[in-house]
Parts: sequence; C-alpha cells; structure tokens
Amino acid sequence: MAVSLEQRFQGSLLGLAVGDALGGRFEAQSAEHLRQRFSGVESLINYVTDEIWYTDDTQMTIALAEVLADQGEILEESLCAAFVGNYVPSRGYGRGARMVIEAMEEGEDYRAVASKYFPGGSYGNGAAMRVAPVGLFFHNDEAMLLEQARQSALPTHVHPLGIEGAQLIAAAVAYVTRSDEFKRDDFFRWLISLCQSEEYREKLTAASEIKSTEQLAGLGNGIEALESVPTAIASFALSPESYAETIGNVILLGGDADTLAAMAGAISGAHLGVDAIPKQLLGRLEESPKGKSYLLSLASRLFLKYQLRLANRSIDERT
Ligand SMILES: [Mg+2]
Repeated sequence: MAVSLEQRFQGSLLGLAVGDALGGRFEAQSAEHLRQRFSGVESLINYVTDEIWYTDDTQMTIALAEVLADQGEILEESLCAAFVGNYVPSRGYGRGARMVIEAMEEGEDYRAVASKYFPGGSYGNGAAMRVAPVGLFFHNDEAMLLEQARQSALPTHVHPLGIEGAQLIAAAVAYVTRSDEFKRDDFFRWLISLCQSEEYREKLTAASEIKSTEQLAGLGNGIEALESVPTAIASFALSPESYAETIGNVILLGGDADTLAAMAGAISGAHLGVDAIPKQLLGRLEESPKGKSYLLSLASRLFLKYQLRLANRSIDERT
C-alpha cells in the first residue's frame, strides 16, 4: 500500500522518538555487553514491556518542528526560544548543551558559551539528531534543505563537521520522503555528491559498500557527528524495509545508542510511514503532554505548512 506524504512526516517524527526512547535505555553500554544480553533485534525489542521515554534528541526535534510549522523557516531567534521553551534538563542533555541553552534562557551570549565549551565549535551529533523536520519540510528544495539544515545547527554547532552531519541527515530524510522506491546506489551517490569534506566523503563511501550488520560497527558509535551520522545512514540502507532492524542494529552497537537510533529511525520512518513502526514499540511511547499524540499532531501541522508553502511556490512560479 502506498505511503502518503503525511504518513511519512508522522513516521519520521515518531520513528525518531521511538528510536531515541528505546536507544536511551541502552546509552553508553558496550556492544559486547549488549551482545551477551540480547540474541538480536527481536530480543532487544521484546525486552521492552513498559513505557519508554524520549531524551533531548526528540525534545530538540520538537522545538525545530514547532518553528517550521509556525513560521515556515528556521530563524535563529525563534529556534533558540523554542529550545528554551521545551527544555527539560533531565532529558539527558550533555553538560555543554545545558550551559548553552541556559545562556539562551538568560539572554546571554550563547555562542560565546558554546565556543567556551567547544573551542572551534562543536562537531558532536547534536545538530544532526534534531534536523529531521528540515529534511521533511524541504524535501524537494535542495538549496533550502542545505541552508536550513545549516541554520538549524548554528546556535549550538558551528564546526563544519557538525553542520555537515546535520545536512547529511536532512538530505537522507529528504531523499526517502520524495521517493516511493528506495534506490540504494542512487541514494548514496546523491549524499556523497553533497559532501563538502573528505572525511564525510570517505565515511559515506565506506557506508555505501557495507553488506552486513557486522560491518556497521566499523563506522563508529560515538557522539561525534562523523562517528555516528554515516552509521545511522548505513543502518537504514542495510534494512530499508524494516524499521525495527534499522534502529535495533544501531542500538546493539552500544555507545551513543539514543542518538544513533533517533537519526536512523527518522530516516526509516520517513521512508516507511508511521504504520511501519511496530505497535509494540509505538504503543509504549510516553503519552506525556508532548508525547505520542502531540508528536502525531505536530507532524500533521508541519505537513499542512509544507502544503501551504508548496501552493505559494506554485503561485510565485505562475506570476
Ligand atoms: Mg539523548
């Protein structure tokens, strides 16, 4: 059955949240420990029998989606306000991120705070983990896709590798959102053509050559964007027709499991739609004020704004 565009928007946001929430259970564990505990993806998923709660990855994604749904573009001031408005420090924010958001809250120079904690700019995966709404919203506008992914990174991540990581996740989400059929070679060819650095070009080339889940670990499982963005993309490309395999295989790598599964889940959900997320997982996602129902309605709101943008663009083109 064909997946509608609205289902892709919902699938991406919910796919991200479920991946984040499940991965959050296993953050910072070693792959060896996880392999002893679980025989594979199925046993990992069967392990969950209670409510799962998302972390900072989803919370910051909500902020980004709210700004896009309201204003149709990322403006730095609105984005910072949305980060502050959504901020719950106990959701697993790193120390640097907490300091930067608290500086935003106090009206201080948050960029100065960021460069104090991350000299030269952060090249962590914090911009990539939250960028999926940009990929959805600008899936058929490459120039805006890349520029808005960059804008969404800047308040916290000014290092080129942090920004590029965000652009690549946005691009992966955009690719699967605009195409019904997943063409692996074409997907990697396009992503590699967008790379600005040799580092990402090499990593994505290696990702494109991976044939088994055992090879995924070689791409990395760390908090640096370069050590996680290609891994998430590769996991999706290995199991494009299975949401559970896509997120399960990166969670079993250990390390930064919540962010790996958030990024991989956002791509997989955009490709397969919300109905492809196993009920067993989606049904356990928290029903807090900004939980499952809110995420579904936020995705629909983002989709309506997208349609409005499309209509305005076609009027612009005709006049
Ligand atoms: Mg997290």
